[in-house]
Amino acid sequence: MKHRFSFLLAAFFVFFTGCAGLKGEDAPASAQIFAMDTAAELTAYGPEGQAGVDAARAEINRLEALLSRTRPDSAISALNGAGAGNPVTLDGETFALLALAQDVSEATGGAFDVTVAPVMDAWGWTGGERRVPPPEELAALLPLVGAQDLELNPEASSARLARAGMKADLGGIAKGYAAGRAGEAVRAAGVTCAMLDLGGNITVIGNNPEGIPWRVAVKDPAHPGDYLCVLSLTDCTVSTSGGYERFFEADGVTYHHILDPKTGYPAASGLRSVSVVSENAALADALSTACFVLGAEDALALWRSGGGLDPFELVLCREDGVVTVTEGLEEGLRFLGGDHGYTCETARR
Ligand code: ADP
Ligand code: MG
Repeated sequence: MKHRFSFLLAAFFVFFTGCAGLKGEDAPASAQIFAMDTAAELTAYGPEGQAGVDAARAEINRLEALLSRTRPDSAISALNGAGAGNPVTLDGETFALLALAQDVSEATGGAFDVTVAPVMDAWGWTGGERRVPPPEELAALLPLVGAQDLELNPEASSARLARAGMKADLGGIAKGYAAGRAGEAVRAAGVTCAMLDLGGNITVIGNNPEGIPWRVAVKDPAHPGDYLCVLSLTDCTVSTSGGYERFFEADGVTYHHILDPKTGYPAASGLRSVSVVSENAALADALSTACFVLGAEDALALWRSGGGLDPFELVLCREDGVVTVTEGLEEGLRFLGGDHGYTCETARR
């Protein structure tokens, strides 16, 4: 985690110091906080900058209290604690986020699944010791995984988990959602230029202080401190998922924290990382996790079909060194991976 934070600082150093001077006395307001189990960096420009940063921080803390399954009084803990088959009435926000998670599960054939929590726990990702669960333990847990058995009732704004032992965990979508909502809070405070980074979910508001699109660097998953490319972005969120972020080693094998819900093992789809850009921040987060599980071919097929989801664009970094960027990101793209042997190709519809 510390690791990740210093990369962020490096990214900010490169891309912010050049801009700050242009605003003269209007140096940006900024805050580094730790929330939702990750480091966050909030930066807002202009006279309302401090109010914007304060509003973003408050919004992130509010959502952590609502959505974290390790907070005993959260909405998700109420759902998980209700017992099999018992519906729990949820606030509209939590309900809508679960519904979006469900849509992403459907669109990705179950690659994204918010009920993967019992298997995450078996690997020790939710506190406790990291461990490799024996195959028979995983086989016994897999029947508890299945987003279609998280039943949502829109009329009653209620949800229930069909089977005993099922658990929901929004770890793959909540940070992006929070980054997006924090972005709205920043805008409501009167800020027109800001960047919020919540554990790899980067939301940009407006253009950068120079009045041109924000330059957001995508990390090279294989070379810490280096970058694959720089994207030019305005009013959207980019979320990145990769096996290089959280992992442990056992008997010389590396195990990361993004699981294939079908096998219970870390996803091994031939991708090193996936970045998703969308105006829908929660969707960007969920899809970065999902596409990492799907692999390049299925991720691009989803991009081409749209999956009935809000529009999104992709940067796929494959293990063979090919970086595929979808055409919506072509404008202003700077590819930086050549020195490490990467090649860049554009995917078209
Ligand atoms: P991070 O949150 O570490 O930045 P991701 O956005 O990819 O990375 O989310 C990973 C988290 O999502 C895991 O920690 C876990 O809580 C959850 N998760 C893991 N595998 C899946 C999956 N296949 N579908 C949905 N959520 C998942
Ligand atoms: Mg995600």
